[in-house]
Order: sequence, then C-alpha cells, then structure tokens
Amino acid sequence: MNKTDSSRALQTRILHPEGEITPGFESFAAPVTRASTVVFPDLATLRALDWRDDAQWRYGLHATPTSAMLAGRLAAIEGGEHVLLQPSGLSAISNVYFGLVKAGDDVLIPDNAYSPNREHGDWLARDFGVTARYYDPLIGAGIASLIQPNTRLIWIEAPGSVTMEVPDVRAITAAARARNVVTAIDNTYSAGLAFKPFEHGVDISVQALTKYQSGGSDVLMGATITRERDVYLKLKQARMRLGIGVSADDCSLVLRALPSMKARFEAHDRSALALASWLKTRGEIAAMLHPAFEDCPGHAEFKRDFTGAGGLFSVVFQERYSPEQIDTFCESLELFALGWSWGGAHSLVMPYHIDSMRTASRWPHRGTLVRFYVGLEDEADLRADIEQALAKLA
Ligand SMILES: *Cc1c(COP(=O)(O)O)cnc(C)c1O
Repeated sequence: MNKTDSSRALQTRILHPEGEITPGFESFAAPVTRASTVVFPDLATLRALDWRDDAQWRYGLHATPTSAMLAGRLAAIEGGEHVLLQPSGLSAISNVYFGLVKAGDDVLIPDNAYSPNREHGDWLARDFGVTARYYDPLIGAGIASLIQPNTRLIWIEAPGSVTMEVPDVRAITAAARARNVVTAIDNTYSAGLAFKPFEHGVDISVQALTKYQSGGSDVLMGATITRERDVYLKLKQARMRLGIGVSADDCSLVLRALPSMKARFEAHDRSALALASWLKTRGEIAAMLHPAFEDCPGHAEFKRDFTGAGGLFSVVFQERYSPEQIDTFCESLELFALGWSWGGAHSLVMPYHIDSMRTASRWPHRGTLVRFYVGLEDEADLRADIEQALAKLA
C-alpha cells in the first residue's frame, strides 16, 4: 500500500514514493537493480568509501546487486574468488592487458589465440611500447626459454577455439610461476564447467559470457575471474579507469540462463561428438580436430585435464577442394548458419584460412579448415544437412 505525503506535489511524490516494496515476496528470478547513481545515507559513509572493498556500493558503473549476484555464481562455477564483469569477452581480455601491462613490458600470446586477442597484443606493441611475442601452443615446459626479465603476462587458450590444440597448461603455469609471471587463460571453450583453471596453476580466467553462459545469442558480456587479490585489484583499478561496466538487465539475462548451462553444455557435447565421429569417416575430410579424438594434438592433456568438450569442433578438408568449393559447402548448409560467436542454441559454421593466422608455429595442414558449432537442433537433421552440402562437393 502506498503512503505518500499528500502535502507534496504529485511530481515530487512520483519521484519519492513511500512504502512500495512488498515485504515477504520471494521468487527465483534475479532482481534487476538498474542504477547509475547509488545513494548514501550520509556524507560520512560516502567519504569513507574504499574502492577495494567489494561489500560497498559506490556507483552503478562499478557494481550493482544484480551484477554482484552474477559475479558470485561465476566465481562458484570457475572455482575462483574475485570476479569482474565487462561488456564483452574481448573487453575482459583488454581489461587484463590494461591491468597488468605497461610500456616496456613483454607479453606472450599463443599462436592459436582468439584473433582479436592477437590484434590487441599487436596494437599494444605498435602504439604502447609493449612487446607481444607469439608461441607454439604445444610448447609445454619449453615456454621457460621464452620468458624474459620484462615478461609480465602469458596468455593461454585451451584449446584454441578454431584449431583445437590443447596445450599443457600445467607445464606453462609452472614455468611462469617459477619466474613470477602472471598467466591468463581464455577459458571460454570450457565455460568453466569442463576445465578448472585454478587447479592447474592459472592466475586469471577469462570468460566470454556471450557464449554458453548467455546461451541465447543475444547478450554480450565477459568476465575475469581470479583467486589472487593483488591481481584482482590491479584489474579492478584498470576497469574503473577505463569506465567499464555492465547493465543489470544484461546480467539478469545471463543469470536466467546459468541454471541450464550444464545441461546445455552436455547436450552440445553429445551431439558434437556424434557428428564428429561420423564426419571423421567421410572421404572429403583430411583431419578431424576435436580434442576428444586421439589424433588431435593435445589429446593427452585433454584427457588429463578436461571433463567435456561442448559443441565446437573443426575439420580440415582434403586439399583437392578449392577454397571456393569449401565456401560453397558452407553456404549450402541450411541448418548451420554463417556467423561469428557460438554458445547459443543454433548451429553455426565458418571457414578459416589458418596459414595467415600463424606466426610462431607451422600449421601442418594444407586443406581448408571449417569450424562447426553444433547447436541443439535434432542430430539426425544436422547430419542430413551436412550430407547434402557435402554432395555439392562431388
Ligand atoms: C567469443 C570469444 C571471445 C570474445 O567474446 P565477445 O563477447 O564476443 O567479445 C573471446 N574469446 C573466445 C575464445 C571467444 O570465442
């Protein structure tokens, strides 16, 4: 029941209503706490604010109860403690760079990295006085020989989300720890479900929540997760300086999809594995790149460290097919759409020319690579769709 002070004008009463919140109401839905301004009970509280204290509310840009609720759930999934949310996976990557790296520092990036991460490293190298060097993702303990006194950050992708090699994360993090270098993994592939980075010595886990966490191909968000408070505070400060924030509405959409994420991930995993097993036997295919298969580079590490794979895999077509023929194959698919990103319900496909994306390792295949993201459509229909598109190659 509204008790409004009737001595005030209607316009004021609309802005300052009283008694609106109904006590005793509970639901499963995350409340959406939109805010720019956060109001304080008195100036002493406001003046005592400490940006390091996550229990304090300061300004809607930094955190709201909805974003904090999402952060807490992501920490639980990943096995981390400190979470920051960014408006995209790529902005989570850039938050790591700006939090840890300054002019004169050196960064190591795996050759199988998400391309915009490479481009970010190249940009810092060109314009910000940083060196960005690339390494063979299968280098393992050999990474030690690349670490310099000014190396500040080593990126890891396990597996690379296009070429699917699984690095030896433990060997890389052990070498980094021995030299006091921070490691950051782009853990989007596993959604934090199938690979637990902090159990393998990683300092920072990056998630593109745009993918499985959102699950609907309709939200962009990212997260950085860590157990280490000093690393967290560096990222938190950079996030504040850069003016990075997320909307409570977007957070609530991700919170809505999180309860079904594990079930979705497992369904994608089953369908992808079944389709990949069948596709591997086709004569058009020269190589199947799915880490659950023995001949995929890094399969031993995958078996040791991962509990699942999700909906992604790539194939390399036989060399006899021209890039144009492979384009025709991709465009002939009816259920696999052409488009970036993944993690939603719909199947996707994309051809890649890997040679032009590598600088530190030799890509062993000559045919065109096609990456599939297997959605939640009926598996037999997806297989029939691939079959009819393969027929166009004949
Ligand atoms: C999609 C993706 C990102 C970036 O996420 P956005 O939210 O699209 O910016 C980063 N890393 C990997 C591996 C991705 O697949």
